[in-house]
Parts: sequence; structure tokens; C-alpha cells
Amino acid sequence: MKKIQMQNPIVELDGDEMTRVLWAWIKDILIKPHVELNTIYYDLGLPERDKTNDQITFDAAEAIKKHKVGVKCATITPNQDRMGEYNLKQMWKSPNGTLRSALDGTVFRAPIIAKGIEPFIPTWTAPITVARHGYGDLYSGVEAKVSAGGTAKMVIEDENGVREIKIHDFAKGAGVVQSAHNTDSSIKSFAKSCFEYALATKQELWFATKDTISKTYHHRFKDLFFEVFENEGYDKKFATAGIEYFYTLIDDAVARVMRSNGGYIWACTNYDGDVMSDMVASAFGSLAMMTSVLVSPNGEFEFEAAHGTVTRHYYNWQKGGETSTNPVATIFAWTGAMAKRAELDKNEALLAFSKKLEKATVTTIENGFMTGDLVSLFKGAATPQKMETQAFLRKIAELM
Ligand code: NAP
Ligand code: MG
Repeated sequence: MKKIQMQNPIVELDGDEMTRVLWAWIKDILIKPHVELNTIYYDLGLPERDKTNDQITFDAAEAIKKHKVGVKCATITPNQDRMGEYNLKQMWKSPNGTLRSALDGTVFRAPIIAKGIEPFIPTWTAPITVARHGYGDLYSGVEAKVSAGGTAKMVIEDENGVREIKIHDFAKGAGVVQSAHNTDSSIKSFAKSCFEYALATKQELWFATKDTISKTYHHRFKDLFFEVFENEGYDKKFATAGIEYFYTLIDDAVARVMRSNGGYIWACTNYDGDVMSDMVASAFGSLAMMTSVLVSPNGEFEFEAAHGTVTRHYYNWQKGGETSTNPVATIFAWTGAMAKRAELDKNEALLAFSKKLEKATVTTIENGFMTGDLVSLFKGAATPQKMETQAFLRKIAELM
């Protein structure tokens, strides 16, 4: 049988520990038998990052800018323990952080839905994709305690001169103050990434802030989203695609989300996204069933699993123990990247293959074959059977 050909490459970013092991298995068992894989390979495993002084991560980001589509394996973000374990020269930064900054991108997380792994909210029958703005607000805030009798003021120096705004007079007792900032350019990039991803996935886009209370700060987000939507032609593109951009207040959004059926993208400011993405992920059942895609405002896409390198399973596997690690989110990172590549290159065969692999993966679970983490969650008709990772991958391959 002739393998599916790829005109243009996918930028492949390898990673660490258990997910690095899964990475090779997924390619060997599920992809390479059918596709003549055309990738540009970057090893983002911690030893290689250390060896290249992290240059490999920056090179990988440039390659994604050039080729538009990347797929990334989970990687270790070093901490003190890893310094010793890997004998590192330096505590290298999070590769995901580096890629996000280089691509100026936004992370979209979406659950993979299989019958039998039911969300805790029964009405959520379609995925809810949460987009978190990754810059500013609380996360680059400045804070201080103020003693009783003190005053806190905000001083702004710009082309309009010097302005002093009183925050609070602490005459009656001590307290705390906090300041936050964001930039128009970051907010606009966030808006563009959200509009691009909504168009790419043909889903509605919801965005919410607390602009009734925060009439300048939050209102700026609301205004810039509408400005980008109208001035950069997204209004027409959305109309053509038959999708909607919907703005509301954050409390109204939360209430609507709970009663919704899913099937839309929920864009959140930094703090809302931090909190709500964890709520949505846990309600959909499992981090191992959550995909993640980094989308740049220029329409560059990097696909990955939302979970980490599954260290505990790796140490166990190294000792020869069993490996029932869930590969589903990593499979979907590959299918996401192949489908995007296929769409850009008008490669029908590759697109069909990506969709078929996703369907085979979900069907395998629905038929009762799954990794250990899903067994206790499974409420489907079949009797769930716990499988070792490679056996599970071969079971999927039977449907291909
Ligand atoms: P983790 O790798 O996501 O794993 C945490 C626990 O969640 C696992 O021990 C396992 O629970 C369960 N789990 C996660 N993914 C699973 C899967 N595919 N199949 C089955 N169970 C799964 O998070 P972590 O232990 O906090 O972090 C480990 C390393 O990953 C760290 O070095 C961190 O820096 C890195 N990390 C990388 C990324 C990324 O590259 N995107 C994201 C997060 C973390 P049980 O042990 O109970 O089975
Ligand atoms: Mg969080």
C-alpha cells in the first residue's frame, strides 16, 4: 500500500520522560505505517536543551514561525531537584513559556470527548475550549502592605504629564495595595489569536470581562477586542464562516457556561483563564484527555497534550514496571498538527487520515479498551479493560 505523502513539513519537538517514550510508540504504531512522515525534528529533551544552552528551544520556535505547524511532546520545566538529577548547567526556563513568548501566542485547551467518559456537568456534550490570556494583570502585579495612617497613590508619567491618583487613605488601619498592568499590543494579539482559532475550528467565540466595575482597565479589553474584530476584517470572516463573536460580563458568561452544551471557545483574561481552565478540565474528567494548542496572532499553530511528562510512570517504566500511561492527548496533538498541515497544503488524504485516527482512538475507548486512569471514570456499556500503553495503541491500530 502506498503511504500518504506530505508536501510540507511539521516541526516536531520531542520531549522528556514517559511522554518521550509514548512519542516514539505513537509514531511507530499509529502514524508511520500509513504516512510518509515529513518532519523537521528538534530534540527539546532536557539533556539537549542543557547541551545547547536552550538554543534548541529558540530554534524550534523560529522553525514553527517558518513552517506554520508544530507538534510538541511534554517537556520537563527544571526545578531544584532536576538540577541534580540531570546535572544541569542552569535552571532553564519553561520551554512552553519560551515558545509562547516567541510566537506571541495564546494557549487553547480542549477536552477529548468519548462516550462513557462523561463530564460531571451532564449538559456538556461538546467540548468547551478555554483560551487564557498569558500576559499581565495579577501575574505581573506589584503589591505592598501599607501601615495604618499611610496613603497609597498611583503615579503615572506619560506624554500628558504627571498624574497622581489616590488609591486609598489608610487612616483607619493598615491594609494592602496591588497594581496591575496590561498592554494594548498584548491584548490585541490575544484577540487576534482567539479570532484566528475560532475561524480555524469554526466555533463561536465568547469573551467576558468585568467592564461594568473596571471601567478603564477591563473596558480596554472589551474595546480592543471589538476594534480588532471590526478593523481587521474578522466581522466579515465570521459572517462567512457562520460563527459569532459574543461579548458579555464575566458573571453572565459563567452562568451561561454552566447551562450550555459546549461547542464554543471561551476566551478569558489571565486570572479567569487560570481558574476556569482548571474547573473545565476537571469537570471533563481527566487531564490525560485534554489537548492544548498554542496559536499565534499570525496563524501559526503548535499542538501538544495539556499534561506533563508523567514522571511517576516513567520511573516505574525504567524499573521495568507496567506502563498504562494514557497516550490519547498526545495522539490528538499529532492528529491536530497533521490536520492543520493537511488544511494548509490541501492534502485530502492526510486530513482524512487524521480524522480516522481520532475516531479510531475514541472508538477504542468506547469499546471498553483503555488505560488505567480511565477505568474508574468509565460509565459506558462495555466492561472497561485496563491495558498497557502499547497494547492500547495496537488496539487502536486494528481500526486503522
Ligand atoms: P503530569 O506529568 O501531568 O502528571 C501528574 C499526574 O497526573 C501523573 O503522575 C498521573 O497520575 C496523572 N497523569 C498525567 N498525565 C497522564 C497520562 N497521560 N496518563 C495517565 N496519567 C496521567 O504533571 P507533573 O507530575 O506535575 O509534572 C511532571 C513533569 O512534567 C514536570 O517536570 C513538569 O515540569 C512537566 N510538565 C510539562 C508540561 C508541558 O510540557 N506541557 C506540562 C505540565 C508539566 P498518577 O501518578 O496518579 O497515575
Ligand atoms: Mg490554574
